[in-house]
Amino acid sequence: MDERQTKGRIFDIQRYSIHDGTGIRTIVFLKGCVLRCRWCCNPESQHYEIETMKVQGKDKIIGRDVTVAEVLETVEQDRVYYWRSRGGMTLSGGESLCQPEFATALLKAAKEDGLTTAMESMGCAKYEVIDGVLDYLDTYLMDIKHTNTEKHKEFTGRSNELMLENAKKIAASGKTELIIRVPVIPTFNATPEEIASIARFADSLPGVKKLHLLPYHRLGQDKYAGLGREYSLAHIVPMDRAYVNTLLEAAQKNCSLQCQIGG
Ligand code: SF4
Repeated sequence: MDERQTKGRIFDIQRYSIHDGTGIRTIVFLKGCVLRCRWCCNPESQHYEIETMKVQGKDKIIGRDVTVAEVLETVEQDRVYYWRSRGGMTLSGGESLCQPEFATALLKAAKEDGLTTAMESMGCAKYEVIDGVLDYLDTYLMDIKHTNTEKHKEFTGRSNELMLENAKKIAASGKTELIIRVPVIPTFNATPEEIASIARFADSLPGVKKLHLLPYHRLGQDKYAGLGREYSLAHIVPMDRAYVNTLLEAAQKNCSLQCQIGG
C-alpha cells in the first residue's frame, strides 16, 4: 500500500506557527491521548472518538479522518516560508504516538519532501513504537511533567515511569535532537525544588541541551464547558513573571542546559 494513503484522525492544522520547532511551522494536531492532565489546554484532543464541542454557542465537530497525502497537501502550501526559516511540520495532539502508523507515515513523507520535522509528545508508548518514528524526526519536544510518580499519577492519571525510561532511551539513541519541556503548573510542580528535580533529570540525559519551562495558562478553560466537562483547576491563580523567573533560576542552578521560558 502507498504509505501516503495511510489514514489517521486529526482535529486541527495550524499554519504559520513560530513555536514548537525551528522557523515557521505547520502544526498537525492528532486526536487521542492516554493521559488526562488536569491543565490540558486541548481537552478536545483527549478522546480518539469524533465529538461535538460548543464554540460560541454553535456546535463544532472535533475530529476528521484524513490521509497522509491530504495533510501534506496543506503543509506543502507554506514551503517557501519553511525554506527561508528552516521550518517544517510539527506533530502535536493529543499524543501522536497513539496513532503510530499515521504519525510515522506523516513524518516519513515530510522528510522525503525535504521538510524539517518535530513532534510534541510525552513519550507514553512502548519504546518500539517510539523508535519507529525517530528515523524521521529532527526534533523531539518531550514533556517531562514531574519526577515524582505518585504526584504524576494524581494529576495526569498515569505513572511517569514509562515516560522517564523512554526519555533515557530516546536520548541514548542519538537519533534526534531531544528537547525537554516542562508544563509548569501551580499545585502540581511549580516549586523551585520540583523544577530543580526535573532539571537534574533532564541534565542526566545524554545529548540533551535545552530545557523549556512552559508556564500554566488558562487558554483552554472555555473548551471544557463546550465539551460538558469540568475544569478542575479553576481555583488556580496563574504565576506572575517574577515567580516564573525564580523557577527558571532553580532550573539553571541545577543543570548545565540552556534553560528558557516558553518554546
Ligand atoms: S499529554 Fe498533552 S494532550 Fe494529553 S492530556 Fe496531557 S496536556 Fe493534554
